[in-house]
Amino acid sequence: MQQFIRRKTDDRRDQELYGGLIRLHILHHAGKGPVFGLWFIEELARHGYKLSPGTLYPLLHGLEGKGYLQSVIERSGKRSRRVYRATPLGCKVLAAAKGKVSELFGELLEDV
Ligand SMILES: [Zn+2]
Repeated sequence: MQQFIRRKTDDRRDQELYGGLIRLHILHHAGKGPVFGLWFIEELARHGYKLSPGTLYPLLHGLEGKGYLQSVIERSGKRSRRVYRATPLGCKVLAAAKGKVSELFGELLEDV
C-alpha cells in the first residue's frame, strides 16, 4: 500500500514534467485528423505515458479553452463521442513549438 501511494505520487510529479510534451503530442495528432479521448489514452500508452480519462480530459478541455482544439459530438447509431481537431491557431502554435522542441532535443541528446 505504501509503495502504491509513493508510485502514484511519483507518477503525478512526472506527469507535471511531461505535461507540455503530452499537450504537444495531442496537438500533433489532432492536427492530422479527428481524434477522440480513448484513442489518445491508447496512443499515449503506446508512447509510455499512462493517462487516466480523469487526467486526459482536463488536458483536452484546457487545449480547447485556449482555442487550440475544437470538438464536436459525433454520433453513430446509439453511440456518441466527442471528437477533437486542431484549430488553425493550434496548428500555428504546434509549428512554433516544433522548432523549440527540435532545439531542446538536440541539446538534451548532445552528450548521449
Ligand atoms: Zn503519437
